[in-house]
This record gives sequence, C-alpha cells and structure tokens, in this order.
Amino acid sequence: MSSHDNPQQRDERHRQRMQRKKAVIDASIAKADAERGVLLVLTGNGKGKSSSAFGMAVRALGHGMQVGVAQFIKGRSDTGEEGFLRRQSGLVWHVLGEGFTWETQNRERDIETAQRGWAIVREMLRDASVGLVILDELTYPLKYGWLDLDTVLADLRARPAMQHVVITGRGAPETLIEAADTVTELRDVKHAFRAGVKAQTGVDL
Ligand code: ATP
Ligand code: MG
Repeated sequence: MSSHDNPQQRDERHRQRMQRKKAVIDASIAKADAERGVLLVLTGNGKGKSSSAFGMAVRALGHGMQVGVAQFIKGRSDTGEEGFLRRQSGLVWHVLGEGFTWETQNRERDIETAQRGWAIVREMLRDASVGLVILDELTYPLKYGWLDLDTVLADLRARPAMQHVVITGRGAPETLIEAADTVTELRDVKHAFRAGVKAQTGVDL
C-alpha cells in the first residue's frame, strides 16, 4: 500500500480484492453441485467430537429430518444432550454398549454386546427414512476388534444414497478414514481436566 493513498483509493482497492475473492469462492461453490449422503469421521484426542455430532443432530431435526443415534460406549446417562434429544420426536436414541472394556472386564460379553448393537445399527443403515445416523464412540469397538471393520464398512457403503452418517471416537482406523467423505481430527491443545477441573455440566455433560 502506498503512503499517498487516499481513503477512497484504499476502499476501491479493497472492493476489487473482495470482488476477485468472491468470484473464486462463487466458482468453487458452483463446482460442488453433487447431492448425496456423506460419511463423516470426528476423531483425535481433543474435546468436541460427540458434541459436534449432536450439533448436527440438532441441525437435522431443525429441518424435520429423522435422526438415529447409537452410543457404543456407555459413558454416562446423565448428559444434557441425551436428556434433551430423547425428548425430541424424530430422534431415536440407542444405547448399545455397557462401558469401557476396563469397566466391563469381560471380553466375550463386550463382543456379544457390540455385535447385537451393530444389528440394530444395520437396521438404521437400511432405512432411507433416517436422514442422519450418529454412531457415537464407534471407533472403540472397532479398535478392540469387537466388530469386524470390513462388515462395518460394507454396511456403511450399502446405506441409502441420501443418508448421512457421523462416526465419533479417538483413533479412527485408517480404512475408515479412507472411506469417509469428511474427516476432522480434533487436536488436544489444552483441557481443563488436567488443571484439576472436574467435568462441568453444560460443557462436558
Ligand atoms: P465432547 O463430548 O465434549 O464433545 P469428545 O466426544 O470429543 O467430547 P470423548 O473422548 O468422548 O471426547 O470424552 C468425553 C468426555 O471427556 C467429555 O466430558 C470431554 O470434555 C472429556 N474430554 C474430551 N477430551 C478430553 C481430553 N483431551 N482430556 C480430558 N478430558 C477430555
Ligand atoms: Mg465422545
């Protein structure tokens, strides 16, 4: 920028820059014209995976879509999102897990529970009236080998063309990442827990 610029010249240059930027953005928006169900994976060690998924549940419900939620690891049943979302018509909430493997301490039972759970998920993945399916903490039964990854991928691939699926959990397997359309890895920069702050209502539960 020249020091001789007057405010009008600066404004005009800004306007031209924004016009060029708008042309680039409009062109890329026009190019993305496909409409189909997408597979999203929210992974990584940072906070925000499940809460982001439930944010999408709210969006979908706001548009009158049907939403199915399956929770694979039963952490706690007192979360605000479970209480709130269970009261919404148009949403079905399945609890398909009993707890982390170090809590159940019974691998046979973990496998049985996960596989029974997947049969329920498969029903949702065959139901075109369900517009959004949230598979919360699905990465854990995959990581522990309670569910067969190839079976899970095949069922995901066979779902209705317009159905969206969101999968959350740490350590998403590489083949799942490859199969997904949108993948976000949440990075843990800081977490209040490590400074001794317990889980806070409205933020963590
Ligand atoms: P959220 O449900 O808040 O979106 P998340 O799904 O990304 O979190 P999980 O691994 O499922 O994270 O853990 C859920 C709980 O653990 C939440 O109470 C969350 O605040 C907390 N948590 C998430 N990440 C961390 C972390 N890096 N350190 C400590 N606690 C965490
Ligand atoms: Mg989570």
